[in-house]
Amino acid sequence: MASRKGLLLILSSPSGAGKSTLTRRLMGWDPTIRFSISATTRPPRPGEEDGREYYFRSRPEFEAMVAQGEMLEHAEVFGNLYGTPRGPVEANMRDGCDTVFDIDWQGGQQITSSALGRDVVSIFVLPPSIAELDRRLHSRAQDSADVIAGRMAKSRDEISHWAEYDYVLINDDLDATFTRLTTILQAERLRRDRQPGLADFVRGLNREFDAR
Ligand code: 5GP
Repeated sequence: MASRKGLLLILSSPSGAGKSTLTRRLMGWDPTIRFSISATTRPPRPGEEDGREYYFRSRPEFEAMVAQGEMLEHAEVFGNLYGTPRGPVEANMRDGCDTVFDIDWQGGQQITSSALGRDVVSIFVLPPSIAELDRRLHSRAQDSADVIAGRMAKSRDEISHWAEYDYVLINDDLDATFTRLTTILQAERLRRDRQPGLADFVRGLNREFDAR
């Protein structure tokens, strides 16, 4: 069968809803899935490496990438710029590999309404409660109290965009949520328009009928 075009799996959620863990697990589940490494002007957190979690860039460098049309989408989040470099995404699609995006609702909207929109599958991850979201943000202990308070405030705004997504997962249990996530991906890969060799395959079946 002809190889299919890779699909674009957009995952959005408020910080602390479990999106990064789900994304990491997804890459382990199917190593052909590629993570879209965003560029950002935010400084690296301890343990983060340039080119692995993000491409860490200065504001002028980031703005030059936007001006040169290198960004598929970009947005300001928590006072920093974040954006998706276009080249790797286009290469993944050509290679028939799915791309996962950990981006906010603004980026989700931009990619969904672009020419690539029909290849998008968008998923919003909700926390089971705000108390649990607060607990998860504090247990990460990577960010200062101020930053955490800012993230809680931003969460409400992020959550208000839930209805713009194709699917919504309530992350009450990580294993169960992960199973639902892979179920969505498996079903989306089987959509008729994502199986490019089907017409040829059915012609083959008909030849078999004729030969009987
Ligand atoms: P963090 O700084 O915690 O890694 O990410 C903060 C927020 O920025 C998260 O909601 C994340 O999904 C979002 N984000 C990360 N990369 C991008 C991107 O390339 N574009 C957009 N629009 N949002 C992004």
